[in-house]
Amino acid sequence: MTDALFSRDAYLTTCDATVVAIAAAGVVLDRTVFYARGGGQPGDTGTLRWDDRFVSVADTVKDRDSGEILHAVDGDPPPVGATVTCELDWSRRYMHMRTHTALHALSGVIFTDHGAKVTGGNMESGGIARMDFELDAMSAELGRDVEAKLNRLLAEDRPVHVLFLPRADALADPDLIRTKIDLVPPAIDPIRVIDIEGIDKQADGGTHVRSTGEVGTVRVVKTESKGKANKRMRIQLDPS
Ligand SMILES: [Zn+2]
Repeated sequence: MTDALFSRDAYLTTCDATVVAIAAAGVVLDRTVFYARGGGQPGDTGTLRWDDRFVSVADTVKDRDSGEILHAVDGDPPPVGATVTCELDWSRRYMHMRTHTALHALSGVIFTDHGAKVTGGNMESGGIARMDFELDAMSAELGRDVEAKLNRLLAEDRPVHVLFLPRADALADPDLIRTKIDLVPPAIDPIRVIDIEGIDKQADGGTHVRSTGEVGTVRVVKTESKGKANKRMRIQLDPS
């Protein structure tokens, strides 16, 4: 399997890698800085360079069966065995990291103040995202309250830790039990956990910033009902 360098260091923007296979949906590398779409976070884009050539990576996805990370290229792929340099579209990815971290903080605020769990969520490029909660009621006023609390917490510049916990420890952690940690497939051990100090802790494969100060300020731009006990908030990050 590809060594997913981003899972240990989300701030790597480039790496050298070897092409190990060309699948129908994309290039397989022995290591990569490209995050594959999943968990509501878009796949990375960027460039692969080799010799005097290059090709754009239009998306990065995971193969549904094998779980391999596939770099979907826009043009002729490099040959198997080639040494390539991976270069991320960093400004786009960094926005995803800020947005993803904001969603964790939002879920932490809603759980702490309202005891409501997350039922779904998704990120777009450009600092836009939505999250759905097991709430009975939603209002513009609640949106304003949550926005104020969220921005106060983010401004405290809380550290964001990436942990690799032994499965048994993760399953026994009360903070993780509420995020349905038991649904993580049994083969996964250790379990990667994102811990935003004092705000939110959950098993997660995505990329995040190092501290909440990097998120900047967030606006709750829309609140809506998506049915009984399912209410949605849309957020937009301010430019950094
Ligand atoms: Zn996350």
